[in-house]
Amino acid sequence: MYATDGKKYLDLVSGVSVSNVGHCHPKVVDAVKRQVEKYMHLMVYGEFIQYPQVAYAKKLTEILPQKLDAVYFLNSGSEAVEGAMKLAKRYTGRQQIFAFKNAYHGSTHGAMSLMHADTYTQAFRPLLPDIQFLDYNDLTQLHRISEKTAGVVVEFVQGEGGVVAGQEYFIKALRKRCSEVGCLLIADEVQTGFGRTGKLFAFEHYDTTPDILVTAKGMGAGMPISAFIAEKKVMDTLTYRPVLGHITTFGGHPVSAAAALAGLEVLLEENLAQEAERKGELYVKHLKKHPKIKGIRGKGLFLAVQTISGEFTSKLIEAGLELGFVSDPFLFEPCAFRIAPPLIISDEEIMHSIDLIIKALDRC
Ligand code: PMP
Repeated sequence: MYATDGKKYLDLVSGVSVSNVGHCHPKVVDAVKRQVEKYMHLMVYGEFIQYPQVAYAKKLTEILPQKLDAVYFLNSGSEAVEGAMKLAKRYTGRQQIFAFKNAYHGSTHGAMSLMHADTYTQAFRPLLPDIQFLDYNDLTQLHRISEKTAGVVVEFVQGEGGVVAGQEYFIKALRKRCSEVGCLLIADEVQTGFGRTGKLFAFEHYDTTPDILVTAKGMGAGMPISAFIAEKKVMDTLTYRPVLGHITTFGGHPVSAAAALAGLEVLLEENLAQEAERKGELYVKHLKKHPKIKGIRGKGLFLAVQTISGEFTSKLIEAGLELGFVSDPFLFEPCAFRIAPPLIISDEEIMHSIDLIIKALDRC
């Protein structure tokens, strides 16, 4: 990234997991240009079948587990979470939804209702009723999910909690519990999706398939697009009683869909997910021994570096800007900073950014 004075910055945030294929990848730019020249918006939703949406949905469903075969496109992560919550309620006929502490799922009323932290929600109450919270990775609480529950919204790797990975035993037990009581397991992969954690989707680390997959951010390769994805028979319940169970004007915008398809092709052709795993290890290897680092959590190029305090973290981020790299804190983990660069980052750029991070650590 370049500032107005021409100063260069290495981007270690990717607009919070958006720019996975980098900034202005030529194949994405080309796809956008081609689509803009054909048409932008035609009709609200579904009246006309539009090629960019269908081509992208086809490609996505080809690579996802068979069960995730129907895609509903929207514009943002929050909206896709809203759609998923509504689908869980509609499909099960139940109202209760569970979410986890230290998770962020969006800022609209419904998505925000899934946020446990009072500091952020108090000013906007009342929020949705019948939302319950569980501690992440705590098996002893799963019994609270019951036949009254419509769905459980979970990040398989918590982002704003400071990159906290779900334990395998926990995710498997959660999946089992949801199946036992007949509620839908909703995976919010807004940050973790599209190669960030070393797999195309984080759920692949767990050999577990969610009932609804929520994606956004990196999906559009820099353009706004999101989706909730489920089995067709589940998704179809939004089409009757009432008809138009969920509608959107711009969801799956043709230009965004064209960018998303190009971005996905780049991810697959350049093997960026697998590479993210190796690249992430470079950071861990070179940074973990620094005396001011208490630990590094994460998977792939989705890393939280724990420092000695929140104050130190703020200073470090500030020093990063002076030295020429961009990092970021987490909403619910002030004592860590983010390393989540575009997945196309080269090994040389990684080593350069490590040098800069070490300089910043020493300086603070
Ligand atoms: N879910 C997760 C896990 C997120 O990190 C975010 C955004 N930070 C959202 C949902 C909401 O996405 P958006 O900002 O596009 O509404």
